[in-house]
Amino acid sequence: MEAVKFYNSLGRRLEKLEPLEPGHVRLYTCGPTVYDRVHIGNLRTFVFEDVLRRTLRFFGYRVTQAMNLTDVEDKIIAAALEAGVDIGAFTAPHVSSFFEDLAALRIERVEHYPRATCHIDEMIAMVEQLLEEGYAYRADDSVFFRIAADEDYGKLSGIDLDQVRRGERVQSDEYGKEDARDFVLWKGAKEGEPQWASPWGPGRPGWHIECSAMSQKYLGTTFDIHCGGVDNLFPHHENEIAQSESANGSPLARYWLHSEHLTVDGDKMSKSLGNCYTLADLETRGLAARSIRYLLISVHYRQQLDFTFAKVAEADRALKRVDDMRFRLAHETEQASDKAPLEEVVTGFEGAFAAALADDLNTSAALGAVFRFVHDVNGMIDRGLPSGARERVEGLLQRADQVLAVLDASAWNGDSGSAPDEELGGLSDAEIERLVQSRSAARAARDFAAADRIRDELVAAGVVVEDAPGGSRWKRS
Ligand code: AMP
Ligand code: ZN
Repeated sequence: MEAVKFYNSLGRRLEKLEPLEPGHVRLYTCGPTVYDRVHIGNLRTFVFEDVLRRTLRFFGYRVTQAMNLTDVEDKIIAAALEAGVDIGAFTAPHVSSFFEDLAALRIERVEHYPRATCHIDEMIAMVEQLLEEGYAYRADDSVFFRIAADEDYGKLSGIDLDQVRRGERVQSDEYGKEDARDFVLWKGAKEGEPQWASPWGPGRPGWHIECSAMSQKYLGTTFDIHCGGVDNLFPHHENEIAQSESANGSPLARYWLHSEHLTVDGDKMSKSLGNCYTLADLETRGLAARSIRYLLISVHYRQQLDFTFAKVAEADRALKRVDDMRFRLAHETEQASDKAPLEEVVTGFEGAFAAALADDLNTSAALGAVFRFVHDVNGMIDRGLPSGARERVEGLLQRADQVLAVLDASAWNGDSGSAPDEELGGLSDAEIERLVQSRSAARAARDFAAADRIRDELVAAGVVVEDAPGGSRWKRS
């Protein structure tokens, strides 16, 4: 098994992955707060986590992953109250649209999607344990985590706690905390809000405790990898560590991976800034989900990605290079007998692709390897395709696409290409001409299967071919 290295935010260095159980990676990824449709910033993080999961499998690991759905939280409660419905009715459509967006971007379903509202008992049990061991205390109707009791609090983010104390003094009055740095584990019920019975009276859980309780239930007290966007690093992940490690006396996760933000004009894409696009917004503008996925993985996950429409158009063009090569490959006759060039191209690609992914999931380098491969295969086609090349190249592209999930156009059902303008969509006249000629050549060589395949491609691109005595004619339908 190839050595896979990741940049561990805990310790801030590259580390070789060594799962607790050989060959099996347990992975926890913080999921959405379902109070609205997720935006493509959120989706950048979810696509990164999907590529991570697929990469682990590419290298032969079994993966067990859990992603929580935060379905009770201040914003949800406020919005549900305003809409006059209970939180279950309010969140249901956002849960559905979340899964639709995942499917539209070909993000794989993971093993567990636990919902906060279905795990209140587990959260209460953990809060009780923290209270018993002196890591938590009650104030008014709520329960707080006592940061002073946790000696290594801050080890993930390296946060300066004195700064936090100064910054949060005002909020501390609101909750009657012992110390401004302490955070809430259980919130006493307020009139008209959803509530659950607990040993401390009716109330609801704080946000951080849900991930600690649910990751433990589905992945164990210590698991391998924990992910989220960088905004989760502090306080959310720091607080998860504080809760779980204080309760269990063992590390929560061994590797912490954080993806950088998607930005718009340099600002983080976020609902509060009002600069969000959802996937549906982009599809309404005629952009293809396939190109959006490509754009999201084209930049290394630890670098910010500034979203622009021009970049989606670039993604279209890049993918068209792959499609064109695969089309040529499918229709070219294999004639050369010397297989050495094929072996060289194949070995170069296999090595570069795997090395890029093993190097902290460097998807931009992995795509670079794909495009060198596309270039090399085109060169082979120009010089004469060795026998067996088609199957070999296709097999490799399919294997690479198990990770990338963008190379195979046919897997993107009904996704006809972004093409906000004519030039980017469909086939150009010259391409159609070339295909029609290839088809005529195939017919002349009595390779009717190949001729039919080309006609099907042309039909799919909206081109009608008519065979006349003087040769084939075509027109756009
Ligand atoms: P939320 O629903 O806000 O809890 O976010 C769900 C996931 O999306 C978390 O992992 C966040 O870190 C991540 N996220 C939020 N905004 C962005 C953004 N602009 N770019 C990338 N990831 C983000
Ligand atoms: Zn979380």
